Amino acid sequence: MAKENQSFETKLIHAGEPKPRIDGAINVPIFQSSTYEYAGEGSYHDVRYLRLSNTPNHLALHKKLAALEGAEAALVTSSGMSAITTALLTFLKVGDHLLAHNTLYGGTADFVNNELAGYGIERDLIDATNPSDWDSKLKPNTKVIYVETITNPIMDVPELRKIVEFAKMHALISMIDNTFASPVLYCPVVQGFDLSLHSCTKYINGHSDIVAGAVIGSAAHLDLVTKNLNHLGGSLDSNACFLLHRGVKTLALRMNKQCENAMLIAPFLENHPQLKKVNYPGLESNSSFERAKEHLCGFGAMLSFEIDGDVDQADQFINHLQYAIKAPSLGGVETLVTRPVTTSHALMDKAERKVAGISDTLIRYSVGIEAADDLIADLQQALEHIG
Ligand SMILES: *Cc1c(COP(=O)(O)O)cnc(C)c1O
Repeated sequence: MAKENQSFETKLIHAGEPKPRIDGAINVPIFQSSTYEYAGEGSYHDVRYLRLSNTPNHLALHKKLAALEGAEAALVTSSGMSAITTALLTFLKVGDHLLAHNTLYGGTADFVNNELAGYGIERDLIDATNPSDWDSKLKPNTKVIYVETITNPIMDVPELRKIVEFAKMHALISMIDNTFASPVLYCPVVQGFDLSLHSCTKYINGHSDIVAGAVIGSAAHLDLVTKNLNHLGGSLDSNACFLLHRGVKTLALRMNKQCENAMLIAPFLENHPQLKKVNYPGLESNSSFERAKEHLCGFGAMLSFEIDGDVDQADQFINHLQYAIKAPSLGGVETLVTRPVTTSHALMDKAERKVAGISDTLIRYSVGIEAADDLIADLQQALEHIG
């Protein structure tokens, strides 16, 4: 059957699998070998060595992830942050300028705001939901524009198609952190982005048992990123490759169930008298609703909200939840809850958080694959405790 006819679910299982299977194994075995017999490789980057991300575990994963997002090539990395920093430092050099959305994952925001300058790279922040803001920030040395598909923790969806048009018009490399959407909801490269970045720690692996990242794009771009990663050293270990390969096979099942659950939980919260604000792009009242409907194949499974109360009451509420586990991170099969100010966004100062709309009482909720009724009953009983 022609590959183009494969549906996403079929690619999850079959794309990238070695043919013939290695010794008939249904799963790609863990290649626990750092180095391989020399077979006449012509260049340093082709030598078979674990750090150079070219073991059978890596190669199968690269092909599968590229196929899932309809791209030519992919590279797995030792973490999402490794994917992000390696990609940025591949295309930004001394004297270059970056445009980045004003609300980014905490680690990325800290790197962009406080560390890029040390590499001699300038940056300006834009509102990626508002194109009228972009022209005035553009500089002759602007090289890269960087956004997230669904921003953390407010869940805004940028003007994705206009970002791509703007990047093409000004010959910028466009990068998007697609972690919150996953390829189930959005395929950035098909939509014209140059590079799609992931924390595979989240939805792609889905089981909260490894840290991993990925960079997805054209073969030419991935060749540059790979050579840079070969020196920066953030390659993914073989065992983690195996777990990621196992985890990704159920991505569609998990993500669809998680999105379905979120679509039931968000209206429950929105209609609850003890809730002040619910951020979920699937709610018609949400400022990103139209953009999410236009660009994404679903609204995701991340919510954030503010209860009508102070920080103590927000913490009491979290502590009374029975199913949602109080922990940072997201995208796993289990529901997780956190106050971003204490975890994912603790590196930002108060002024930066204010710009990003992150209040001290904001609660972020990563919807798992439990039964929606149970999660809703759990939220209800926890709200009753804080009267
Ligand atoms: C978690 C996360 C990252 C960082 O990924 P790690 O795997 O923890 O390094 C980057 N971007 C987003 C949107 C994330 O949620």
